[in-house]
Amino acid sequence: MTEYVSYVVLALFIFAILFAQRWKQAPAIICPHCRHTGGVKLRERKRKTGLSGGKVVGGLLTGGISLLATGISRNASATECRCSVCETTWWM
Ligand SMILES: [Zn+2]
Repeated sequence: MTEYVSYVVLALFIFAILFAQRWKQAPAIICPHCRHTGGVKLRERKRKTGLSGGKVVGGLLTGGISLLATGISRNASATECRCSVCETTWWM
């Protein structure tokens, strides 16, 4: 039982390290919420931007085959910003 708990703690620890490394410090960005400079971190993320009309039409034309390959929603790459002072998150 204690072994199981230590494995879970280890897994969470590794996950936390991997997750933390995805954020990049951005010293020049000012937080729009608290006006603090230097506490903002950035990370690149795929952002779902809703239904893609082109993909739906393409899916109808190909009998749904293209939808299986590409999915119905549009994925745009965006930068997520997070202020470490007031915990506000916003997109650029
Ligand atoms: Zn802030």
